[in-house]
Amino acid sequence: MTVRILVVEDNERNLKLVRDVLQFAGHEVIEARTGEEGVELTRTESPRLVLMDLQLPGIDGVEALRLIRESPEGARIPVVAVTAFAMKQDRARALSAGFDDYLEKPIDVRALPVQVQAFLARGHRGSE
Ligand code: MN
Repeated sequence: MTVRILVVEDNERNLKLVRDVLQFAGHEVIEARTGEEGVELTRTESPRLVLMDLQLPGIDGVEALRLIRESPEGARIPVVAVTAFAMKQDRARALSAGFDDYLEKPIDVRALPVQVQAFLARGHRGSE
C-alpha cells in the first residue's frame, strides 16, 4: 500500500536515509527541512503520517506538532517524534507533548518500514 509520508528533518543525511528506505518500501515521501515547512505541508499535502525530528532550526518539533494539531487536517494525523537520543526523558517528553509514538536515531533501516506500517495501522491516539 502506497502511503504519502511527510518527513520533517533538517539533517540532509538522515533525510536521505529515511526517504530512500520509505521510497524503496513503496511510499511517497514529502520532505520538509524546518518545522514551519512541516506545518505548512501537513496542511497542504494531506500526508497520512508525519515523522518529525525534534531538533529543528526555528520552531522545534514540539512546537510544530502543536501548530499541526490546531488545524482540522492536522488534528487526526499520526505524528511520530524522531528523537536524537535513546533517552527515557526524550520519549516521555515526546509522548506527553502529544506525539503518537517516537523513533530513535540512529534509524534502523531494516526496522523502519515495519515500524511505519505499525504507526499507520494504529493511527492517531486521540482519534480512538
Ligand atoms: Mn535535527
